[in-house]
Amino acid sequence: MARLIFLGAPGAGKGTQAKSLATLGQIPHISTGEILRGAVAQQTPLGLQAQSYMDQGNLVPDQLVIALIRERLSQPDAQKGWILDGFPRNETQAAFLDQLLVEIDQTYSYAVNLEVPDDVLVQRMLGRGRKDDTEEVIRRRLQVYHDQTAPLIDFYQTRQKLMSINGDIPPAGVTDKLKSLL
Ligand code: ADP
Repeated sequence: MARLIFLGAPGAGKGTQAKSLATLGQIPHISTGEILRGAVAQQTPLGLQAQSYMDQGNLVPDQLVIALIRERLSQPDAQKGWILDGFPRNETQAAFLDQLLVEIDQTYSYAVNLEVPDDVLVQRMLGRGRKDDTEEVIRRRLQVYHDQTAPLIDFYQTRQKLMSINGDIPPAGVTDKLKSLL
């Protein structure tokens, strides 16, 4: 059963790859960014709390995303596998996930790290035109990534769960390499 965590900087192609792989493996693609953007669009209580953080390129408070993941992983469709895209994003979230998985008697197969140079990331994000993709916010998101999320590469390496993949090649080539993980 495939349970995969996707790491990688904003713009690395996590979303694109996670979506393709989830379709191929017929398992849910769980993107915290997508869930949060949906909550903001619908102005739910979660969305109202998350919006200002997202607009500035900062992480939404851990307690909000942790509650969201706890709830999502308990859904029936998540019992046959999943791909986590955008979670965990710091060590608190990673430690929570390990603990939650012990509680629900699950484990992940790999944390996939998509490697893409910073200058390529900035160009990609400037090209996609999302509301939080202005140059200033992009730079802030990259800084947050390097400060808080990149340390997770070591976290998963230590647990011998890390799978690093070059993300600076055409998307279909990345998908091909990832398929073997399903
Ligand atoms: P990208 O990785 O391309 O920047 P995402 O869609 O993964 O985009 O995330 C968009 C925004 O949603 C982030 O900048 C952050 O504010 C918020 N977010 C998503 N996932 C998390 C998380 N696990 N913890 C805190 N904030 C999150």
